[in-house]
Amino acid sequence: MSDVRIIGILGGGQLGRMLSAAASRLGLRCHIYEPCAAPAADVAYRLTNAPYEDEAALRAFAESVDVVTYEFENVPTSALDLIESIVPIRPNRRALAVSQDRLTEKTFLNEIGLTTAPFADVPDQAALAGALAGIGAPSILKTRRLGYDGKGQVRIADAAVAEWTGAPSVLEGFVDFTAEISVIVARGMDGQVAAFDPGLNVHQGGILRSTTVPCGLPGRVTTDAVLIAARIAAALDYVGVMGVELFVTPQGLVVNEIAPRVHNSGHWTQAGCAVDQFEQHIRAVAGLPLGDGKRYADVVMENLIGDDLARLPDLLRAPDVQVHLYGKGEARAGRKMGHVNRITR
Ligand code: ATP
Ligand code: MG
Repeated sequence: MSDVRIIGILGGGQLGRMLSAAASRLGLRCHIYEPCAAPAADVAYRLTNAPYEDEAALRAFAESVDVVTYEFENVPTSALDLIESIVPIRPNRRALAVSQDRLTEKTFLNEIGLTTAPFADVPDQAALAGALAGIGAPSILKTRRLGYDGKGQVRIADAAVAEWTGAPSVLEGFVDFTAEISVIVARGMDGQVAAFDPGLNVHQGGILRSTTVPCGLPGRVTTDAVLIAARIAAALDYVGVMGVELFVTPQGLVVNEIAPRVHNSGHWTQAGCAVDQFEQHIRAVAGLPLGDGKRYADVVMENLIGDDLARLPDLLRAPDVQVHLYGKGEARAGRKMGHVNRITR
């Protein structure tokens, strides 16, 4: 059905780990490429532990696999160029380029007719005053690249006392949302699209705390959200799973950002669907038919961050709770150590 036997994964964190576990259920092997510690390697066929600048290691990695995917979108361009000269990369480079840079991302989203927060390019500190004059406060200054879990962001309450992020940035108007939701959408090699039910996301200090399904919003909102995600996937000729984060406002849905990979807000699918986001991604990049992503349970996914691990004895005893631990060493503050999926109905 597919010629893919070995999947290369760039990045060896928890997402790579869960992708690798899903691939193994389908009889496929994963080869992880990770410069640092790689919890994914515990459950993978092979690990290359080398920097993204090591051309010989990259070449050997690419030659040993049938397709390359990633769990981390900030892989250097030079590494991707080398890999792509040997083996296909899915999702494609355009999806990566668009989502690596918040300015490119917002411009692309507006070009395909979707609403984002109002934004301005702030290439350097000198440009900040002009951007603030246009966007105003409250607003959020975000580095164009390399942000995650709210890192690289400065909230601006008062335009007169704005701090600088230290890198080329975008200034975003603050969206007064009533809720945050996300859609995990998959697109296969044949263009088939399958979306999981939108989840309601709660963030604390810029980090995802929990995702709840069903999200409790009216059907017209959830349908709109799914259509938006499908439109983005089609516009990028996307293959794989993508996370689309949206703000719900009285004026309609505003797209916050897209992630060209499996997404933390899609972890609930492990307990809520016959085929979860990880398997769906593996199926898509391996050229297999997409699976059934229908939701058969109500689920609350909660991240276990830093000291939350102290709750483990209780969580392990609790009914209807699926515990996932990532096998990371030290439980530092703000570090995602695992998650639980609580089946609520
Ligand atoms: P993650 O890795 O968790 O997706 P990130 O670092 O990429 O985070 P964003 O998604 O841009 O960051 O922002 C993190 C959170 O901050 C959002 O989920 C939202 O709660 C809040 N936020 C971001 N941008 C805005 C905005 N323009 N208006 C209001 N709130 C915002
Ligand atoms: Mg986000």
